Amino acid sequence: MRYLSTRGQSPALPFCDILLGGLAPDGGLYLPESYPRLGRAELDSWRSLSYADLAFVLLSRFIDDIPPADLKALLDKTYTPHTYRFVAHPGEDAAEIAPLHWLEPGKLALLSLSNGPTLAFKDMAMQLLGNLFEYVLEQRGETLAILGATSGDTGSAAEYALRGKRNVEVFMLSPHGKMSAFQRAQMYSIQDKNIHNIAVTGMFDAAQDVVKAVLGDADFKARHHIGAVNSINWARVAAQIVYYFKGYFAATRSSDEEVSFCVPSGNFGNICASHIARSMGLPIRQLILATNENDVLDEFFRTGLYRPRQAAETRVTSSPSMDISKASNFERFIFDLTGRDAARVRALWAEIDQGGAFDLAGTPEFARLPEFGFVSGRSSHADRIATIRDLHARFGVTIDPHTADGVKVAQAYPQPEGVPLIVLETAQAAKFAETLQEAIGRDPGRPAELAGIEDLPQKSVVLAPEVDVIKDWIAARLAR
Ligand SMILES: *Cc1c(COP(=O)(O)O)cnc(C)c1O
Repeated sequence: MRYLSTRGQSPALPFCDILLGGLAPDGGLYLPESYPRLGRAELDSWRSLSYADLAFVLLSRFIDDIPPADLKALLDKTYTPHTYRFVAHPGEDAAEIAPLHWLEPGKLALLSLSNGPTLAFKDMAMQLLGNLFEYVLEQRGETLAILGATSGDTGSAAEYALRGKRNVEVFMLSPHGKMSAFQRAQMYSIQDKNIHNIAVTGMFDAAQDVVKAVLGDADFKARHHIGAVNSINWARVAAQIVYYFKGYFAATRSSDEEVSFCVPSGNFGNICASHIARSMGLPIRQLILATNENDVLDEFFRTGLYRPRQAAETRVTSSPSMDISKASNFERFIFDLTGRDAARVRALWAEIDQGGAFDLAGTPEFARLPEFGFVSGRSSHADRIATIRDLHARFGVTIDPHTADGVKVAQAYPQPEGVPLIVLETAQAAKFAETLQEAIGRDPGRPAELAGIEDLPQKSVVLAPEVDVIKDWIAARLAR
């Protein structure tokens, strides 16, 4: 299997060659040259596989440049009940890795994807990425320094995935004093020598600008083997395909049944994986995309207009991991929607890359949207609070604000009898104590093992958000 760029002007490459990079050289995103198509018999034969075995049968279709025995070992090491032991709801079986939690049996369920070390779904893919990076670097005799900026979820998921890994150093910038005590403790309490927390004075944007400037210095980047683990990484999307199959098998008895999924969305990474699962033949009726007040994607699916927002238009909400101004994986879907017309994608993104917009309303492409199963909706702070309260009252479950966006939007799309609706649980309530307090009047609690992490010793350095200061600090650490 080779990977091509959505912009059609980069050579097709095997999996391991695109694993460590970001964008394709032509500015596009990598996708497999075709999606494997699965038959009913095959689906039925996978029904009772463990999560790691399911990941193996699926991902070996996309990764053929790692020997099967090695890939199997990497997946077995990644998807263990120990790593995903922080179960979100009492009674969940950690051995399932992504347990299905019925609210209304046969009708409405949550898929618990936030049982990993950082209590958010990003652990599902990032843990695998950490093991893949270590493996490929070892094979090639290379080293890699990961540089990123985080306001919470992605950075901590990356640190937990890469801590203690050979040949990888992680430099993660975060806004000094701006994260919650819990988030700060999660990241800064990691003592592994290859994890470097840099608290920069100023806001998140300042941290992000420095990272962009450092990554934009091709010479520095090449000299120190610097890379990133952002949401456009293909391996992250690929790893996320697996849990759609897992959720489907858990919710159905035979593979002629359908399900619908509702996905709280930001950068379109998670729901992109469900689009690919559906393209592979997984019987998905609807893909319901949920946004918060930052509704750039809802606007597209309703009207055909894709209009990334200015920074000033991007709102800070109580589901912060969905506060995006543009959706960095969206180009992958548009590539498929246009029948994989790279010239068309280049023309559309010529507008986007210059800060513009495009409107597909009235085009034959937009008319094809129903074939892809997508519908969408948006949610607000008041909706999140009401939904958290409602689920707590009716079912005795506590959900986080992002999952609440999903549940709220899902309610607008009632499914026919016999089609279960599965809402992806993307984080645990424990991470958002303040919002939970507002909704249900009490602290959501947290997995016992994380009690008191705020009191553990923390490791971080405070630096000014200045490119040269950050570069010098990184270079000094890499020279040792
Ligand atoms: C990252 C994140 C999202 C958005 O996922 P995308 O793949 O960017 O669409 C939703 N909820 C939570 C809790 C997240 O951390």
